[in-house]
Amino acid sequence: MKSAAPVGEVLKRLEASIPDPKMELTYRSPFELLVATVLSAQTTDRMVNRVTPALFGRYPDPKALAASNLADLEEILRPTGFFHRKALHVRELAAALLQKFDGRVPDRMDDLVTLPGVGRKTASVVLAHAFHKPAIFVDTHVGRVCRRLGWTRSDNPEKIEQTLSELLPRELWIDSASRLLLHGRYICLAKNPLCGQCVLSDICPSALSS
Ligand code: SF4
Repeated sequence: MKSAAPVGEVLKRLEASIPDPKMELTYRSPFELLVATVLSAQTTDRMVNRVTPALFGRYPDPKALAASNLADLEEILRPTGFFHRKALHVRELAAALLQKFDGRVPDRMDDLVTLPGVGRKTASVVLAHAFHKPAIFVDTHVGRVCRRLGWTRSDNPEKIEQTLSELLPRELWIDSASRLLLHGRYICLAKNPLCGQCVLSDICPSALSS
């Protein structure tokens, strides 16, 4: 088996190919980012961005969202798929924010993961992008890229997060995780990875020869 891709070289090349690793969800506050991230399950960020202006126009804070009419909320969320479940989830999330945290989004992992529907990945996204705290978010894209680069064999997001926290310099956690995610989303695709266009193809142990 070929050896794992060298971490420093991967980071250097991804930095050159993705100089500005922007979060693709649009948001104006920690509350909006938290809700948008929960809504992004099983859909694209672009689709979430299509519904959030109407969503937050009508329900601008946890109080308004917790008191929302479920049918109205479902109608707004319909384009994101699984809208019955998502409507229930974000309304419960808003109620929990009110009950536990006075309507504010907490800025600690231990607090965030007590909220309904919020796992470590969502919590890490919020910590990193809303509060600029070092955090590594491992979603399906990040996990896949790490396995293909030979950095892990695990498909357990928490184990991969732990591995990345040891491999990556702490000050680069947010940008590196963002780049790995974008690389997985647009180049290292699940079914047909675009190895011929990939800046890592000569150092990646999983590269497909074209
Ligand atoms: S060479 Fe292929 S498998 Fe390896 S990271 Fe690039 S796209 Fe993914």
